[in-house]
Amino acid sequence: MLNVLLLGPQGAGKGTQGKLVAAEHGIPHVATGDMLRAAIADGSELGRQVRPLYDAGRLVPDDLMIELIRDRLAREDTAEGFVLDGFPRTPAQAAALDELLDEIGRPLTVVLEFQLPEEVAIERLRRRAEDEGRADDTPEAIRTRLRLYHEETEPLIEHYRARGNLVGVRADRPVAEVFGDIQQALEQAAVR
Ligand code: AMP
Repeated sequence: MLNVLLLGPQGAGKGTQGKLVAAEHGIPHVATGDMLRAAIADGSELGRQVRPLYDAGRLVPDDLMIELIRDRLAREDTAEGFVLDGFPRTPAQAAALDELLDEIGRPLTVVLEFQLPEEVAIERLRRRAEDEGRADDTPEAIRTRLRLYHEETEPLIEHYRARGNLVGVRADRPVAEVFGDIQQALEQAAVR
């Protein structure tokens, strides 16, 4: 079982690395941002509900997100592990995840903290805005998202550090180098 959690600011490459780790280990990449984008594209009830928040770069309410993750981790394909990306983002979500993982007996193998200077994150998001045209990559939404990251999500680093399974990853490097470090960290975590 390989249960990986990715933490770090927007633009750090969590999505890219999350997909690589998932493919390498044959486990799903559970990315809440992707799940919400799919719901918005489908025009589902959930999508309609979250769209204004998403577009503004604000956070979707905790209870909604916790329910989404509870349902997702109940699916068969996560039995051998998962790469969780974009959740938790608030202390309440982290507490709910601790409880959920305890309940289903699937502790986190490792928490990878993507480290990246703020100005590099902003530059990467600007470039992505040009390439992908994501609705929440407007300058204003980017500012809101990074502010919320600092206020709500960054404190979770200490939460996981205190539990002893946090590993730092220097994310300001080529994709293959970052992935190499991650693979090493996963091997070490697996033998611990
Ligand atoms: P991401 O692709 O992870 O940057 O997520 C894009 C957007 O989806 C965020 O700016 C939020 O609006 C929403 N979102 C994704 N995950 C969460 C979460 N765990 N809690 C609240 N909102 C979320």
